[in-house]
Amino acid sequence: MEQVLYDYTRQDHDGASCTAHAWAKVPEALMPPERDAAKARIKALLKAHDAVLVAHYYVDGDIQDLALETGGCVADSLEMARFGRDHAAKTLVVAGVRFMGESAKILSPDKRVLMPDLDATCSLDLGCPADEFAAFCDAHPDRTVVVYANTSAAVKARADWMVTSSCALGIVNHLKDQGRKILWAPDRHLGRYIQEQTGADMLLWNGACIVHDEFKGLELDLLKRDHPEAKVLVHPESPASVVAQADVVGSTTQILNAVLKGDAPAYIIATDNGLMHRIRQLAPDKTLIEAPTAGRSATCKSCAHCPWMAMNALQGIVACLEQGSGEIHVPEPTRAQALGCIERMLDFTAAHPAVLQTPGLVRNIGAA
Ligand code: SF4
Repeated sequence: MEQVLYDYTRQDHDGASCTAHAWAKVPEALMPPERDAAKARIKALLKAHDAVLVAHYYVDGDIQDLALETGGCVADSLEMARFGRDHAAKTLVVAGVRFMGESAKILSPDKRVLMPDLDATCSLDLGCPADEFAAFCDAHPDRTVVVYANTSAAVKARADWMVTSSCALGIVNHLKDQGRKILWAPDRHLGRYIQEQTGADMLLWNGACIVHDEFKGLELDLLKRDHPEAKVLVHPESPASVVAQADVVGSTTQILNAVLKGDAPAYIIATDNGLMHRIRQLAPDKTLIEAPTAGRSATCKSCAHCPWMAMNALQGIVACLEQGSGEIHVPEPTRAQALGCIERMLDFTAAHPAVLQTPGLVRNIGAA
């Protein structure tokens, strides 16, 4: 397989692929009076514009709280897409990264979709350019093309199926049962995990999430020895050495549910630490331990937080609602072509809801 490698520390022509640029764009945290004023302003603006706030689990806790207080949602990318499509509001404010705003627009072309910062992207999306991906597909016309949600509208337009980490296992199993060979993009760790679990014939693109790629198996093994009572919950975008030590492998929602329903007193969690905010609210009695990234003594090789998710801020939400900035446009025919693979996934998960409730791998985790 041809290697497609990107250096996310080097800035490209518009700066969007550079993590340093992303961190530099993260607005300063507001002081409590300013924060309260921004939240009040957003509540008024949401009403005035017939808008609803759709937030991902990885964004700032204030934004998550605001979404729930105003009748919006905090969810993973699958539920965000469904919620935005089904909600009656004329404007969707998507707090997350760009492919999430694009998915919302693809599903709801008549709604206005705004984002706090259009530079908020994703290493998986950046690492799978549409022209290179199309050439890869053209070279393997016998394969069913399955892409992860974390891709551009142009890549989805080339795909047969879109999946999220909530439903990837169920959908690939379904395709395997039909005798299909699969071309998978872009996350290599998730692809490898699905391949191992299903035994499907899968050809993998070589992409990775810069956050989940940083979790370390050796350091996790050491941490587990310090906390033998803790269960280990891992997102499947993590390296094989980390996934191999997991009690549960699943999407953000499946990890959340594993803590809520599990009977262990403590959990070591390997995913973006933005998720901790919601888990702490819902399970205040459980001990949560962040899985190690670059080692016990390392402080900042990585911080288990996505720089592009961090670009979402209250100030950006005020600005997009006041000025109409950050609007997502997905031109035709790309939108119509991308719609097919998303709808196929939504129809499948509606018809087979059990695939969403069961994490891919569960070992000895009590009620989870
Ligand atoms: S956490 Fe990873 S997968 Fe999610 S948006 Fe950031 S880079 Fe992409």
